[in-house]
Amino acid sequence: MINPAKRTKSIELSQVRKMFEITNPDAINLGIGEPDFDVPENIKQAMKDSIDDNETHYTPNKGYIELREEIVKKFKNDNGIKTNTDNIIVTVGASEALFMCAQAFIDKGDEVILPNPSFLSYEACINLAGGTIVPVDCKMENEFKLKADDVAEKITKDTKAIMLNSPSNPTGAVMEKEDIKAIADLSNDNDILVISDEIYEKIIYNKKHYSPGKYSDNVITLNGFSKAYAMTGLRIGYLNANETFNEELLKIHQYNSACASSTSQRGAYAALSGPQDEVTKMVAEFEKRRDLIVSRLNEMGYETVNAEGAFYVFPKIEDKDFVTKAAKAGVITVPGEAFGSNGIGHVRMSYANSYENIEKAMNILEERVVNG
Ligand code: PMP
Repeated sequence: MINPAKRTKSIELSQVRKMFEITNPDAINLGIGEPDFDVPENIKQAMKDSIDDNETHYTPNKGYIELREEIVKKFKNDNGIKTNTDNIIVTVGASEALFMCAQAFIDKGDEVILPNPSFLSYEACINLAGGTIVPVDCKMENEFKLKADDVAEKITKDTKAIMLNSPSNPTGAVMEKEDIKAIADLSNDNDILVISDEIYEKIIYNKKHYSPGKYSDNVITLNGFSKAYAMTGLRIGYLNANETFNEELLKIHQYNSACASSTSQRGAYAALSGPQDEVTKMVAEFEKRRDLIVSRLNEMGYETVNAEGAFYVFPKIEDKDFVTKAAKAGVITVPGEAFGSNGIGHVRMSYANSYENIEKAMNILEERVVNG
């Protein structure tokens, strides 16, 4: 018998993916983690042109220089982060960037402070690298926002990294500027790495996004095109890391993927250098849906935070059978416990589905689950 490596055995396949596999095709899917919009036309055209121009060869390991120049501009304009093209690595989605951070920096025994609840991949990547997870509570009474004081309490001599994700998957919480800054200060004072996953940065409502990378050089900033430009299947993301960090990250990237797809990189260039009105339209539509889903859930008696970002809500639903009952009635959701112990008693619902479908889904829940 050929056994898999112990590290692989120690982790599980994603519960979110499993939910989709059992999905009835007619069910309304509020489990999904990707925008339901199409890729904007200018991006599609750039990718078609790149194929016609035979740009189908390897690119530099760190990505096309023109794209990295646009990313440098983006970091300066949107995030107040001063960087240069050498510090940027274009990756196969933010997923690869995350994996690279864990492989390049986390050793067995290193502690990683991880928001609870948080995106499933964080735990898996830290476990695969042999790190120890130190959960820090994101409490509903704080609207699930991670607080710097709670992070500070978790720091020990073994703390290697702090994982941040604002706006958050699964709660939609957007951290406050003072907490972001205080965590950046903690990283400077204690020589701790901050891995800041900012993939939902653009999907934010009446609130400003702040990057810890503006305040500390110990921060690796992760971002990508999956959410803001609906480019999930094109697998394209990027990171910014200082010169010393960058070299270690590049080793993992070189041997893992060599470079991100040339075609997707051309699309990403068009995304950053072209008009941003499609992003604005998409965010306005998400905001309407957020308002709808939050008010309907609250009316049903499920306490729901009016989340300020991403496209998820995380209502308090104590009925353990809710997810199964909802699925049987035709609405797919994800059990909150998939995202950590603080997710117990909550359900993640994504509103990356049409307004009409969300309305229908809420009617089904009201008629067949709450009153059923
Ligand atoms: N981070 C978070 C918080 C996510 O929700 C996701 C996608 N669900 C990713 C990273 C991965 O994004 P990508 O498609 O760029 O790999």
